[in-house]
Amino acid sequence: MRAWAVERTGPIATRPVVEVERAVPTPLPGEVLVRVEACGVCRTDLHLAEGDLVPRRPGVVPGHQVVGRVEVVGDDPAPRFAVGDRVGIAWLRGTCGSCRWCRSGRENLCPASTYTGWDADGGFAELAVVPAAYAYRMPAGLSPADAAPLLCAGIIGYRALHRANLPPGGRLGLYGFGSSAHVTAQIALAQGAELYVMTRGEAARALARELGAAWVGDASDRSPVPLDSAIVFAPAGPLVPVALEALDRGGTLALAGIHMSDVPTLDYQRHLFLERDLRTVTSNTRRDGEELLALADRLGVRAHVRTYGFDEVDRALSDLATGDVSGSAVVTLPG
Ligand SMILES: [Zn+2]
Ligand SMILES: [Zn+2]
Repeated sequence: MRAWAVERTGPIATRPVVEVERAVPTPLPGEVLVRVEACGVCRTDLHLAEGDLVPRRPGVVPGHQVVGRVEVVGDDPAPRFAVGDRVGIAWLRGTCGSCRWCRSGRENLCPASTYTGWDADGGFAELAVVPAAYAYRMPAGLSPADAAPLLCAGIIGYRALHRANLPPGGRLGLYGFGSSAHVTAQIALAQGAELYVMTRGEAARALARELGAAWVGDASDRSPVPLDSAIVFAPAGPLVPVALEALDRGGTLALAGIHMSDVPTLDYQRHLFLERDLRTVTSNTRRDGEELLALADRLGVRAHVRTYGFDEVDRALSDLATGDVSGSAVVTLPG
């Protein structure tokens, strides 16, 4: 089968991700083999290609927002899926099930957790395997390309929104307005939030206005009103003090990225005092995923998608790197 793999990490301009020929994987007991129809492009794929995240296996196939049809069901006494079912493969693909985090509903913090497109090959391939227990049944009303960005951008944004403690009808600031932020914005707006967006790039700003933001500014602009909650999606540490300073008393800032450049020194009075909370977001639980997919279906949340052909995976990554994508980039396959 055809696949794209991280041959050696490096700046995206040096083409670290290349097309390769791979054997079709065989599903182990409890796994399913999926024929990929669409795979969303995430900033984490870019971090892996460029070495900000060190790949955990040589020649790993990235891609962890995968929608496809089950082609083979591995041995399973009680299979969750049948051949032909449309499923989603997301970032989280394994946890131990027995540590104190797994047992307390926080499997996202499991020290033994594994990830699609990092520990195991992902979805920039014609076929991919996934443990059935970590796959999602996809809502029927969504096309594969529309559904793919929900599987990381959507789920992580949903968790970030929870972590940001947004009060009902509250003022939410989003720093960065890419794939995850523009899905999160739709959920927050549907729930009555007032939205303030700080981002570079006129296309992203236009999308924020179109979706209903109350105010849109440049990447590190000060929002015109104090914020109850904010989420930093951009992987830029210098935005942390900017966002903390924009919070109202008792406000909460959540950092949604898996990787971030250095955070500058914080000033206690300016950035933290008055009970401003600073929280991070780490992966997600399967429950987050199930809730987000149901909510997106019910609210009619739709990613703004730019599609690429399977031979354009490297171009999709470099467009993401240069900020040339507004909304979500998705690689589609004939299926
Ligand atoms: Zn665990
Ligand atoms: Zn991701």
